[in-house]
Amino acid sequence: MLIRNLVNTISIVVGILIITAISFNKLPIWSFVVLILLWVVITTYGVLNIKAGYFLKSLNNNPTTKGKKIAITFDDGPDINTIKILEILGKYNIKGTFFCIGQQVEKHPDIVKKIINEGHIVGNHTFTHGKFIDVYSTDKFIGEIVDADTAIEKISKKKPLLFRPPYGITNPNIARAVKKTGHAVIGWNKRSFDTTIPSEKVILKRITKNLKNGDVILLHDTKLITLTVLEQLLLFLQSNNYTTVTIDELFSIQAYA
Ligand SMILES: [Zn+2]
Repeated sequence: MLIRNLVNTISIVVGILIITAISFNKLPIWSFVVLILLWVVITTYGVLNIKAGYFLKSLNNNPTTKGKKIAITFDDGPDINTIKILEILGKYNIKGTFFCIGQQVEKHPDIVKKIINEGHIVGNHTFTHGKFIDVYSTDKFIGEIVDADTAIEKISKKKPLLFRPPYGITNPNIARAVKKTGHAVIGWNKRSFDTTIPSEKVILKRITKNLKNGDVILLHDTKLITLTVLEQLLLFLQSNNYTTVTIDELFSIQAYA
C-alpha cells in the first residue's frame, strides 16, 4: 500500500471522529483545522521528496547491491557542458546515466550520440521540463514523457525505459502518467544541490559524507561547477575503491525496450 493511501485513509477516519466529537462539544473546532494542516504538511513532504515513495514507487538506491558500487546520474542535459562531463568520465573510464530533456535532445543530437557511443545510458526527463510541469494534467504529462521518448529514440534507435521526474516532484497525475507509459521511475538518495550551492567543497562533502554501497548520486551536466565536483568525486571514489555503474546495472533492470 502506498503511504499516500494510508495517510488519506487514516485522515478520513480521524476526521470523522473529530467532527463527531465537535458536534457533541467534546472537542474544539480548531482540532479539525489541526488535522487538515497536518495532512497538508505530510502531503507536501510526499510531493517534494521522491525518496518518500508517497505517490509512486521509485528506485532511489540499492543497498542490497554486492560490492562497493554506486551510480552517478546527470540531469537536464544535453548541453554544451555535457561534452566536458564526457571528457572527465572518459578519462577515468566511468559510465554514467544521463536523464535528458527532449527539447535539449533535439537541440544537441550529436551530444546525445556521443553519450550513447561512449557507453553511457540515456533516460527520459520529460520533453520541456517546464516550470509548471508538476501541475500538468495526467494526459499532458504523458505527452511530455512520450515526446521525450520520441526525441531520444530518434538517436538511440531504442525506447528509453528509465524516467526521472523533474525536480524529483511526484503527485497523483505523475503517478498515473508513469503507470500508463510503463517507465521505471528513478530517484536518488544523494542530492548534490550543484544547481544552487556555489561551493565545490560543500557540494562534494554532501555527496561523499556517509556514501554507501548502492547509492545514487544526482548531478547536473548543465552546470560549470559540476565539472570540478565530478573530477574530485571520481578521485574520491577511486581512492575508496568504489566502482561506478549505470542505473540499469545497479538495479538489474532494462534501460531500453
Ligand atoms: Zn531536472
